[in-house]
Amino acid sequence: MDTNLLYDIFRREIHDRKIPISLGKTCPVKCAFCYEKDHSYRQTFDTPLTTQEDWKFMLGEIAKCPTRPDEAWVMGGNNYMEWTDVFLHPRALDWMEEFLETTDKKVTLFTVGYVPPERINRLAEKYPGRIDFELSVITLSPHRKKLMPRAPSAEQVLKIIDGPAVTSANFYSFGPNTMSEDAQTISRINRKCLLWMGCLTPLKYIDPETTALMRQGKRYLPSEAKKIYYDNPPNTTMIHTESYITAFLNRNKILKTFDSCELEKNDWVVMAGSVYRVLTLFRRNRARFLYVSNDTLGGDSDCTTLLTFEDIAKRLNGQTQVWLPKVIFEGGAGQEKDICGTTLVEFKMRFPRIRFKVLRQIDSYLSNRKLYEKGYIKNYVEDYLNNPLSKKFEAVPLPN
Ligand code: SF4
Repeated sequence: MDTNLLYDIFRREIHDRKIPISLGKTCPVKCAFCYEKDHSYRQTFDTPLTTQEDWKFMLGEIAKCPTRPDEAWVMGGNNYMEWTDVFLHPRALDWMEEFLETTDKKVTLFTVGYVPPERINRLAEKYPGRIDFELSVITLSPHRKKLMPRAPSAEQVLKIIDGPAVTSANFYSFGPNTMSEDAQTISRINRKCLLWMGCLTPLKYIDPETTALMRQGKRYLPSEAKKIYYDNPPNTTMIHTESYITAFLNRNKILKTFDSCELEKNDWVVMAGSVYRVLTLFRRNRARFLYVSNDTLGGDSDCTTLLTFEDIAKRLNGQTQVWLPKVIFEGGAGQEKDICGTTLVEFKMRFPRIRFKVLRQIDSYLSNRKLYEKGYIKNYVEDYLNNPLSKKFEAVPLPN
């Protein structure tokens, strides 16, 4: 790859606060549930294995950026390069250490467990408060072998958890005694790390067997969550991955925001399924709700933030004016683009007869911060599972 292009890609990632280390190939871990199996919806570049010279360039660019107290640099997730477990790069941890040594910035790292426990624990002690280590446990159950046959073993993962480094461990329900048992095991070893749980959502390219396992996990989520609720571990326990739960628990915030938009009865407003159900239940006929399914991602996805302009285009049918939630096109680097990289301007040009207006109140601050405030297992059990209204919410049919 041409060096100018390569360094331009690095600059774009760095602008979005990513540390763009590359393995020079697709992720060799090949997890069955990997959301990068098909990333054709967005443009990515095949970057070569990061060299020492590339790293020098990256660190120089990173050092030029101002340090903000609430900002962390991401290792293990990019916009313009394919996601991989970057800790498979033989120098990744050395470079992370150099980053911590030579800057005053924070780092968030994602890995399925490719870090030596002694070293990462030593770094956590040396740089307190600067490492946010999100360990992707996924599952410690017997399903692990099928889902991630090449990942570190459950025993290796537990060794990493046994120490001060891990900030949060994420793992999911795949059926009876999966998520709840993992919560018990992890909590026994580490009483401080945040337990981040839920289900994995099948997308359209996930194989049928894995999809069935994910759906089984969803069916057992209530009983798994209740077990954890009654066990009441000392760790903070959060559940975040299900948009329908998030939408229901935050219905008052959604309604308040909707009301503040002061829409007319005949206005068309774009939304995905969960928000459609909330508004149909509590604000019927206050506007016209244009339900849009997440066709681009497919499978069981249901999330307004992840709608694409292409998804919306498929549902347009004679409207002259349509309101779009801002959250759909708050792509990185402050550009107005959806998750595919299509800009609002490009989309508008496709439909010159339709007037598109933007609901600025419905932005990523609301969806990422505000709606996450009620993401505790306690909220899910007490205000969703034990609330008869949630059954009515689930029963609201989605338009064809
Ligand atoms: S380690 Fe992460 S990026 Fe690699 S295959 Fe597994 S889920 Fe995908």
